[in-house]
Amino acid sequence: MGSQALDFRVLIVGGGIAGLTTAIALRGPNRHIAVLERSRMLEETGALISLQPNASKLVTRWGLDPFLHSAEPLIDRGFRVFDMSGKLVNELKLETARFGADRVLYHRQDLHSALRNAATSTQLPGEPVEIRTTCPVKSCDPEGGVVTLESGEQIQADLVIGADGIKSVIRTAVLGEYCPAIPTGLSAYRVLMPLERIQNIEGLPDCIKSCNPAMTSMIMGGDRRVIMGPGRGGKLYGIVALVPDGSLHEDTAGDSWVKHGSKEQLKAAYTGFAPWLLKVFDAAPDSEIGLWQLRDLDPLPTWVKGRTIIIGDAAHAMLPTQGQGASQSMEDAEALAAFLADIDERPGKSKVQDALWKVWEARFERVSLIQAYSRQQARPAMEKGSNSVTLNPGEFMKYNCEYDGATDWVRKKKKTT
Ligand SMILES: Cc1cc2nc3c(=O)[nH]c(=O)nc-3n(C[C@H](O)[C@H](O)[C@H](O)COP(=O)(O)OP(=O)(O)OC[C@H]3O[C@@H](n4cnc5c(N)ncnc54)[C@H](O)[C@@H]3O)c2cc1C
Repeated sequence: MGSQALDFRVLIVGGGIAGLTTAIALRGPNRHIAVLERSRMLEETGALISLQPNASKLVTRWGLDPFLHSAEPLIDRGFRVFDMSGKLVNELKLETARFGADRVLYHRQDLHSALRNAATSTQLPGEPVEIRTTCPVKSCDPEGGVVTLESGEQIQADLVIGADGIKSVIRTAVLGEYCPAIPTGLSAYRVLMPLERIQNIEGLPDCIKSCNPAMTSMIMGGDRRVIMGPGRGGKLYGIVALVPDGSLHEDTAGDSWVKHGSKEQLKAAYTGFAPWLLKVFDAAPDSEIGLWQLRDLDPLPTWVKGRTIIIGDAAHAMLPTQGQGASQSMEDAEALAAFLADIDERPGKSKVQDALWKVWEARFERVSLIQAYSRQQARPAMEKGSNSVTLNPGEFMKYNCEYDGATDWVRKKKKTT
């Protein structure tokens, strides 16, 4: 691979949010960047996804705002928390000035296509990224930087980045053993439907129907929790309803973890909640109810081996309770770009490896803590025996969102130690 003999050759396995943003962040002179993606890249999950202020800042810095404009971003102005009876018990407003950027909601497909357009555009620095679809990777020699495709073809690079998601094969190569993601004890029903389907629901608070301002609504009771809000510029409405696996009457085990869900079972899981919430579930088309078993990873002993590093869900899959999964992948992309910044011709192995260890050192503690926070945020929303909601969605926002890039983080860390 590589158009010139001395190009820095970067191979990214996986064209999800982690892989594409890393490809964009690494673009520069004398670099050839290729993404190998297993799928045809046409089947990104139909769901909403949020970029938190810590990621929105990076997106702007990379010059992606013009590309993301076509993805119909919707700025989320905060959280409203309702108890199970439907009473509003807490409101947290998110002003842009608070973290220097907004929390922004996208449809995953729109975000993904905008990132793909940016990666392959001629308007950003360096050569456009080469994206090879229908290209599953079977294995990797992390020391040599050699990737073997299922077709048998082998590709060598100066740097291999495993951004191949929660079921990563590159993780197995880096760790030297199979390390699967673990069930967290929670499953999530997911629904996406036109916003107009909830407009005439009797008793539904007006603030939930409105996109002006758009806010995320959380309805909490015991060990159940619904997180819902508008997306795609206000055309769609997305719902995530968490249910402990132990109380599910649907099978979520098996290989794919993502199944079709039953509306009746979803409603049964939320018996006793505000009638308007059950009517919102009723408004969902039967075909649009997905059921995901949620898995995550414990912090891994390393992300780096030789010329290879894992990032994104491959390195630190986390629960969606703080909506930080994609944002943390973007922070990984920024850290790679920062520590590889001075490489503009083919580097030797030790130079690559030194940079990768710096990425690991800068990222591991922060991401591991956010993984832990995400598990903590999944705890029941109410104390045992109490009727009042104690869970606060703003609890970890300061730590999560005040981040301003890997070198700034390392500098601040050095000051405090
Ligand atoms: C229910 C739910 C809700 C979520 N909500 C949010 C949210 O609101 N905000 C947020 O920030 N995050 C959210 N997340 C998490 C977020 O989706 C992920 O953390 C984020 O997309 C990480 O992306 P990734 O690129 O690492 O992995 P993925 O998106 O899984 O991408 C991996 C890519 O690699 C490809 N691939 C896999 N294996 C191979 C192979 N062998 N060869 C070649 N290609 C391969 C895959 O096809 C895929 O395209 C949520 C997750 C869940 C489960």
